[in-house]
This record gives sequence, C-alpha cells and structure tokens, in this order.
Amino acid sequence: MRYSFLSLLANAVSGQRLWTPAWRDAAPKPSYDAVIVGGGGHGLATAYYLAKEHGLHNIAVLEKGWIGSGNAGRNTTIIRSNYGLPGNIPFYEWSMTLWEGLERDLNYNTMVSQRGILNLYHSDPQRDAYARRGNAMRLHGVDAELLDREQVRAMLPFLNFDNARFPIQGGLLQRRAGTARHDGVVWGYARAASRLGVDIVQNCAVTGFLRDGERIVGVETSRGPIHAPKVGLAVAGHSSHVAHMAGLRLPIESHVLQAFVSEGIKPLIPNVITFGAGHFYISQSDKGGLVFGGDIDGYNSYAQRGNLPVVEDVCEGGMALMPRIGRLRLLRGWGGVMDMSMDGSPIIDRTPIPGLYLNAGWCYGGFKATPASGWCFAHAIARDEPHPAAAAFRLDRFATGHLIDEKGVGAQPNLH
Ligand SMILES: Cc1cc2nc3c(=O)[nH]c(=O)nc-3n(C[C@H](O)[C@H](O)[C@H](O)COP(=O)(O)OP(=O)(O)OC[C@H]3O[C@@H](n4cnc5c(N)ncnc54)[C@H](O)[C@@H]3O)c2cc1C
Repeated sequence: MRYSFLSLLANAVSGQRLWTPAWRDAAPKPSYDAVIVGGGGHGLATAYYLAKEHGLHNIAVLEKGWIGSGNAGRNTTIIRSNYGLPGNIPFYEWSMTLWEGLERDLNYNTMVSQRGILNLYHSDPQRDAYARRGNAMRLHGVDAELLDREQVRAMLPFLNFDNARFPIQGGLLQRRAGTARHDGVVWGYARAASRLGVDIVQNCAVTGFLRDGERIVGVETSRGPIHAPKVGLAVAGHSSHVAHMAGLRLPIESHVLQAFVSEGIKPLIPNVITFGAGHFYISQSDKGGLVFGGDIDGYNSYAQRGNLPVVEDVCEGGMALMPRIGRLRLLRGWGGVMDMSMDGSPIIDRTPIPGLYLNAGWCYGGFKATPASGWCFAHAIARDEPHPAAAAFRLDRFATGHLIDEKGVGAQPNLH
C-alpha cells in the first residue's frame, strides 16, 4: 500500500481496516545474492539502495533482535553536514541531500526537521577554528554562518550569557541541519526495502561464517546456514566481535554512549545547540521533552546502559549552558554501544577477505550518515569499488596513515 491522502481517507471511512503490515517479517531462505548483517538504519538503507539503485532484489537483512533495537533506535536524532575535512565534507553533504528528499523517496514520514544546529564557541581560538570549518564548508557548497554573541543572544535568549564560567562568544550555524525521527527512519527503509523484495529477517543472529577456502560464501545463523557470495557487515557496536568470527581484527573499540530526555515542556529550544566548553548537546522533541547527551563512558563495554559519572558530567554541561534546565525532571536515560574507530571516522570498504564487506566505525555520529552510508555501502558491495563520496573511508588507512581525524585528538577512541 502506498501512503497518501487517499489511503488515509479510505481507512478513515472503513474503520482503519485496510492497513497492511509495513514490511514482511520474512523467514530466511537457504541462499541469497547478498546478505546484510545488522538491521539498524545502515543495514536497512544498504539493502534498500542495493535493490533500488543496483537491481539486486534477492537479498536479506539479518537482525539478531528486532530492527532498530540497536543504536538506530537509541540516538538523539541529530542530522548535519558541518564537517571540515576533505574526506568528510562531500560524504556528509551527500547524506544531507538524501535526507532532504527521503520522505518522498521512501513514501514514509521520517519527520525530517531542518531546524538548524548551532555550535557555540567560547574563546577566540575556538572562534577561529569554527570560522575555518565554516569556510571549508562554504567552499564545498555547504551552508554555514558564523554568528557573534549578540546574534546568538537574539536567537537563544535563555542561554547563560551574563554569569557563565565559559561566556558564550558566538556560534557556527548550519540552518539545513536538524533532526529526524530515528525509528521512523528504520521503519521507512524497512518498508521501502521490503516492497522491493528484500527479506527482513528478525531474531536471526549471525554466529559464524561459511567459507570456501579464503572466500566467505555465507553465514551461520541461529536459524541455520545461509549462502551468499557477498556478505556486508553493518552491526555498529558489535563490529569487532562479528568481524572476529571471520578472523578479522578491526581498529575499533566498543564504548557506551548515553542520552537523556526530560519531562515534556512547552516549546523552548528552536534548534539543536552544542556547548563548546564541554561535551553537551540539546534539542527539543516534538513531544516537548528536552533530548540531550554528551560524552561516551570511558571504558569498553557491550552493555546498552552507562554509568553515573557521565550522567553527572552531562548534567554539569547543561547547567553551565542553561541553568534553568536544573528545574526539569529527568524522564529517561539510556545507552547504546558505539563502534569507536581510531581516528573517529567510519569505514565503508571491502575487507581483505573475499566476499566480506564492512560498514563500521561510526562512533557516535552515524545516524546523520544513514542515507549516504547505505548508498555508498550498496555501491561498494554491488560494484566492488568505493563510491567517490566515501573513497576516504578505507580500511587500509590505518596501515597507510591516511587518517581522517576531524577532531585532531589522535588515536584515542574515548576522545573522538
Ligand atoms: C545515545 C546515542 C546518541 C546518538 N546520537 C546521535 C546523533 O544525534 N546523531 C548521529 O548522527 N548519531 C548519533 N548516534 C550514533 C548512531 O546512532 C549510530 O552511529 C548509528 O545508528 C549506527 O548505525 P546503525 O543504525 O546501523 O546501528 P544499529 O542500529 O546499532 O544497528 C546494528 C544492528 O546490528 C545488529 N547485530 C549485532 N550483532 C549481530 C549479529 N551477530 N547478527 C545479527 N545482527 C546483529 C544489532 O542488533 C543492531 O540492530 C547516537 C548513538 C547513541 C547510542
């Protein structure tokens, strides 16, 4: 069923009896042309673009739990393309372009809201760094505006301007950035992929790999073996664990990232704001809750929950930026497992093992990348060569030294 005004009307007058399931909950077949491991946003987007752009319809997405149960359903929904390095800018801008047409493409309301993101700066050197980033963005045709303190005050008068330990001096604004509804993105891609014939197989954990010599020719799963000449991994926080089953050691560590939502309040925060003197960012959901987060918990873990020191650190950041947040009650906090790469940038590539492809290392910034990640990973799988927009995200860059260290903090996963 195509969603439209007419389908709404038909259901309204028929007691909502005409709706059909959004996607087929498929049973696994013994073989496919390609298998994608991981039913998060990236895995589902990859399957969708494999079918739509490359004509591969006999494919399956294998998810060990339910689709969106990983980071895709746990993130703080921020989308943006305000990067400064040549390897990153074209990729994230391509993602932003895909976001801008996503709802029409998928025929699904993913609630893309281009409400803007403002990165605050609090010192002269930080202003200069943001100016450089903004200039790099504009040179690549990406929108960026450098605001001074009074422009920020006019936009966000509720921030702490007059009594702050780290006074706000201004901010870098990208107006086309914003938020999208995370689980809506998962469901939209699942529905669109399913309509193109993709099997979405839930409760199907990959437990090993089928091999013909060196080559990977399929996967062992909790629901039996499945043969496929091409296997793509898009398992986010479990990347090193799953790759290890194939004998591949990745330059990735898994860490927890937490996020929080407050009780609902009337509209206060019009866009996404990031604090420049600590790790804190905040936006307001359409239901009214303030959605915020900060740093990763600084230890390795596969648990989808974090610890109290980071809760305290995040709340301190919030209090420093907008003290009125202290009067709100916290509704919920949760965690997800991040695949932290050694330079803070992702990997979309073939692996040295024939038949095995890798999409990983998204750290805590992969939601915004979902459309372009799926697009470029599908390209790599279908054509056996990197997509030009993701050409820098090679696995061998850690051996050759061509790192993409956007933050400039070196090989420190807990700092990226
Ligand atoms: C709290 C938090 C806030 C975040 N905020 C943002 C943000 O604001 N903006 C942004 O851009 N990014 C953000 N991120 C990061 C972003 O969510 C991730 O980078 C991105 O979702 C990762 O890609 P994915 O959606 O495919 O991952 P996931 O949804 O984690 O998908 C991977 C899937 O693989 C499955 N899997 C694992 N092992 C196996 C196996 N053996 N067999 C089968 N399936 C398996 C998992 O169950 C999971 O469903 C945030 C993350 C968290 C946790």
